[in-house]
Parts: sequence; structure tokens; C-alpha cells
Amino acid sequence: MSALATPPLQLAPFVNEPYADFSKAEQAPAMRSAWTNVRGEMGKEYDLLIAGERRKSAAKLESVNPSKPSEIVGVHQKGSEKDALDAVNAAYAYFPVWADVPVEQRADYLVKIAAVIRRHKLEFDAWLILEAGKTWAEAEADVSEAIDFCEYYARLALKLAKPETLVQLSGERDEMMYLPLGVGVIIPPWNFPLAIMVGMTTAALVTGNTVVIKPSSETPTIAAKFAEAMLEAGVPPQSFSLLTGSGAAIGDTLVAHPRTRFVSFTGSREVGLHINELAAKTPKEQIWIKRVIAEMGGKDAIIVDRDTNLDQAVTGVLYSAFGYQGQKCSACSRAIVDAAVYDDFLLKLKSKAEALSVGASDQLENYMGPVISARARDTILSYIETGKKEGRLITGGGKADGDGYFIQPTVIADIDSKARIFQEEIFGPVLAVTKARDFDHALELANDSDYGLTGAVFTNDKAKAEKARRRFFVGNLYINRKCTGAMVGAHPFGGFNMSGTDSKAGGPDYLLQFVQAKSIAEKIG
Ligand code: NAD
Repeated sequence: MSALATPPLQLAPFVNEPYADFSKAEQAPAMRSAWTNVRGEMGKEYDLLIAGERRKSAAKLESVNPSKPSEIVGVHQKGSEKDALDAVNAAYAYFPVWADVPVEQRADYLVKIAAVIRRHKLEFDAWLILEAGKTWAEAEADVSEAIDFCEYYARLALKLAKPETLVQLSGERDEMMYLPLGVGVIIPPWNFPLAIMVGMTTAALVTGNTVVIKPSSETPTIAAKFAEAMLEAGVPPQSFSLLTGSGAAIGDTLVAHPRTRFVSFTGSREVGLHINELAAKTPKEQIWIKRVIAEMGGKDAIIVDRDTNLDQAVTGVLYSAFGYQGQKCSACSRAIVDAAVYDDFLLKLKSKAEALSVGASDQLENYMGPVISARARDTILSYIETGKKEGRLITGGGKADGDGYFIQPTVIADIDSKARIFQEEIFGPVLAVTKARDFDHALELANDSDYGLTGAVFTNDKAKAEKARRRFFVGNLYINRKCTGAMVGAHPFGGFNMSGTDSKAGGPDYLLQFVQAKSIAEKIG
């Protein structure tokens, strides 16, 4: 990172962005006004942004409101192969300029992006409700996390620019500095359409890389709003491109481009592995090995021990399984319950799951909104049919009322560890419950997975909690709390095995993945 002299940027210690409390009556006018502003822009058309140049395409991409699919949220361009090539080439051309911008200035841009998002927070919430089907509370958590990433990485970049002192050999000055990598392709998923996109993008930018952002085709309007926020914050338009369109159509071009230096991906295992394979190829004109940061799926388990507060465990499982309709990579999709409390657990869980309201996500009384698309709904429903054959349906089991892509919170018990709904990521409100003989058996079942993202244990037994610390093979372990809701700074996030490269987003080491270290030894005296 460049160490050119600029006034030092003074930032107060990082604190997480507070959440608005939507149950308070005084929030209502601000929510109404944000809602009116956003509603007024529904169906608007957005351009491609190639290093500041606005472009249109003949083919369009429309995003819809999953609570009411007849409603179009945004009309977007379908970037072509040429747009993809131009975006990487433009990012490559601007890279040396951006890499030379002092780190204080790049960090300051992140703080400014955070300020713009904060100023428009309720509008961002509304876009997430309308395009991603989040409830107000889930949207607020997503937008707050986006702000946290900007603020956290700004501080981290300043720290990274002052590496620790090395061993000093006699007659030498020995030092190490971190340099940016080059052009990064940023590929986020739709399920944290703001937070993950903002986190991956700002981490790359603040360390001096230029980026091409390829957002999910389910949530392009949220990406367009983020691009507007970056421009409003004064980020040089040449430092990034926003390329909407189908991942399958332009993804390979971006990943395979010889000038792409790294790919930062979050999404499914299938696409992540494809990207990893493609990125490993080295075309003749490419002079580096591409770096791939890939955070992928999960099949996250909560272990409920016999020695626990069962009500707390049931609540923890309920919110982990059905928050945002089970569409979090960290969602609990397997409850592994000690035989001694198994029947009681199911009874309590059934009654709580049946009390959850499902419906349009803008209505505050609904705990669950729609799943993201018709395709997702059909896949989830087909898994539910499989699950009904593999186990005993406790509650749910089909569509919920309404025009949107609504699915009932579904619990299927007596699931064997070889069952498909125990092993495969469903990414919807479907929970498999499995009986364990004892705690060791529960741990064995929890680890019987290709994935290793999050997990939780509910137990009052300190020795068992200690065993889980050592033996529960997940990147993010929670004890006596839900397995979702990772907070920037406190819970560095990333998983093991097929859950990805364990990049630990929002943690102290995250930025190291966007830089390369240079060691310098100078003879002195
Ligand atoms: P997805 O893999 O279908 O899509 C992710 C992104 O990849 C999208 O932007 C998509 O357009 C793009 N894409 C698709 N084909 C591509 C190709 N050939 N080349 C390049 N890009 C391509 O995933 P999704 O449905 O958007 O997201 C859900 C998945 O993401 C789940 O598996 C979930 O567990 C995972 N996820 C993981 C984390 C984590 O931190 N581990 C966080 C959130 C989501």
C-alpha cells in the first residue's frame, strides 16, 4: 500500500451500527416517507456502469417483488461479453492510479460510503424488502452490516498500512509492505444483496484494487443503488464497474479474463467450484495464478443437549431456521436433539412454528416473507416432498397463502443422516430434526456433512461445550445462542470444507486476501 504523505485519518474505534426499532411508533413517519420515495422509483430503468460510462443493452433484465411478483422493481441491462471485457480492461487501466491513492484517502471513501448508506438507510431497507423479500427487521440488519463493513475495513486498511516491525538485521533496514493485487471480480449472492456486495467490494477497493461487480440477477436494483451511493460518496467512477446480467452468460468471461487477478465470490457450492476450476486455468498471456476467495453454502446444525433450557433452545432453533425464510447460508437446517428431550422439543417447536406469520414482507406483523423466486419456491417444495418420504412431517409442508412465493415453515422429524434433506442445502424454511443417543453421537451427526459453516450447541454442561469447541467442525460456532446473525468485528465469518475458503469476512485478517506482501531490505550505515 502506498505510504505517500497525507494528513492522518482519525477514526474513532469501530462500533456496530445500531438497528432501528420498528416497533416504536416514532419510526412510522420516517418509514412511510422512505417507502413513498422508493415506491415512486419502482420499475425505473438503470444503466450498466463501465468505469463511469453509462451503457444500455438491447436485452433487459427485470427484477420483481417476491411478495407480489406482478410488480416490477427495476429494469436493468443485460451486460454482454463485450461489456465484460471492456469492464476488466478499464479496471486494469485504472489500477495503477488507484493503487497509488494514499490509503487514508481510500479509507475515507469507505467512511463516506457508509455515511451515504446511513443517510438513506430506510430507503435501502425498503429496496431490500421489495426486491429481496426481507422483512423490515432483516433488511435493517443487512443494511447495518453493509455500513459496518465500510467502517470496519476503513480502520483495518489503516492498520494494514503499518505492518509490524520485522527482525532488524545488523546493517539493514528490514520491512514489509502490502500491495494490492490488481483487478478483482466481485460476485455476490442475492440473499445479503447489500451487505455481502458492499463488504467484498469495499475490502477490495480500500486495499487498492479496482473492481468489476457482477451482482445477482435477482437483486440488481439494490446493486444499482449501491453504485449510486459510491458515486455520491465521491469514489472515482473509473475504480469500479457495475455489470448486471446473467452470471452464467458473462461470469465465465470475467473469471477467465487474463487480466483478472482475483475473484471474490459468495454463493452456491456449484457455482463457487466452477469459478475455482476456471480461475485455475492460466491462459498464455496471464502472468499470475488467480486468487479465488469463495464463500459457499451451508447445512448448519444446532445440537440440543438433554441438559439445557429447552425453551431457549427451541427459540434459538426457530429463529435460526426460519429467519429470512431459511435463506441464510448460516440458517439452521438440521436440529440434532438428544433422545431424552426429543419429543418435548418437537412439541414445543411445532407450536412456536405454527405461530409464525407468513406474508408480504413489508407488513410488520409478518415474521416470514416470501422466498426469492418461483424457481426457488419449486425447488424447496420438491425438497419438502422428498422430506415427507424421508421422515415424519411435524408442521408446514407446502405453500402458504398469498400471491407471493410464500412457503410454510416446515419441520420434518426422524431424519436419518443419510437422507437428502439432512445432507443437501435446501435454502428455504425446511428444518430436518434428527434424534441423537447422546452428546457424542450428536457431534458425530453434526459433523456428518460436506459443509462446515455455522453450528450451535445448547447445553448447560461446561464439559460438553468445551468438547464442541474442539470437535464441532465449523467456521462459526455459537454456544447457547442461535447460529445466525454474525456481527462484523465480533464474529469473523466463513466456513470450512465445501462452505468455502474460510475468508472470515468482518474479521481482522480479511483484508490480507486482497493484498500481496513485499519484503524490502535496505543496506544502511
Ligand atoms: P449462486 O451461486 O446461484 O449465485 C451467486 C452469484 O454467482 C450470482 O451473482 C450469480 O449471478 C453468479 N453466477 C452464476 N453463475 C455464474 C458463473 N458461471 N460465473 C460467475 N458467476 C456466476 O448463489 P445464490 O443463489 O445467489 O446464493 C445462495 C447461495 O449462496 C447459497 O448456497 C448460500 O449458502 C450461499 N451463501 C454463502 C454465504 C457465505 O458466507 N458462505 C453467504 C451468503 C450466501
